[in-house]
Amino acid sequence: MPPNTIILTRKINIAIDGHSTCGKGTLAKHLAKKLGYVFIDSGAMYRAVAYYLLSNKIELEEIQSNPEILNTIQISFRYNEENDFFETYLNGTTIENEIRTAGIANYVGKVSSLKEVRDFLINQQQKFGKEKGVVMDGRDIGTAVLPDAELKIFMTTDPLIRARRKFDELGQKNMLMSYDEVVEMIKKQDLMEDAGTSPLVKADDAIILDNTNMSREEQARVALTWAKGVIAVS
Ligand code: C5P
Repeated sequence: MPPNTIILTRKINIAIDGHSTCGKGTLAKHLAKKLGYVFIDSGAMYRAVAYYLLSNKIELEEIQSNPEILNTIQISFRYNEENDFFETYLNGTTIENEIRTAGIANYVGKVSSLKEVRDFLINQQQKFGKEKGVVMDGRDIGTAVLPDAELKIFMTTDPLIRARRKFDELGQKNMLMSYDEVVEMIKKQDLMEDAGTSPLVKADDAIILDNTNMSREEQARVALTWAKGVIAVS
């Protein structure tokens, strides 16, 4: 169990949705560590399937005609104290680095738009949620995956602030793009996430957390207070 964990007996599920680069993963990981919960990165699960299909040279059409192939995929998450990270495992082997490449980023959209893949992963994600004590982030968690989650957070950030954060992050990795290119990329991503097979939609009972003018610490404090409040009355 991560250090500085608060032990509370009653466990709830927490769903965090929002556009990419809003900081969902950072917040979800923080809450999971503080509460002693499991962090499930639903995007990593789609990436894991994309990685599996590419490495085993399985075409998308094969999945559509024979979705049982997906049953050979087992995805899990384990907290690694050394790097303070909830790592993604595929059939027992960590693939955390392999799923963060540009190749996977470019392919995952095609994989996640397949109904067969969505049905398979939503089923897996719901199984994780059965035990309670899960913080899951994504785009459809509060609506399709865990509609009964006791706490639903919908994160928003001004797109220009997200572009600035992404621009700084890319600069640190020496991946050079101009600020205007990053703004364009964010706009395109938003359009894609607002359309398609599983568009990003705020659940009616989700609380909006607009972190445009908040530090990471402030947003973490606010969300933890909400979580403790819900746990206290559930
Ligand atoms: O969040 P992340 O960028 O890792 O997600 C990778 C991809 O997985 C997204 O671009 C999207 O295509 C898909 N995804 C999804 N539904 C989710 C989470 C991710 O379709 N709940």
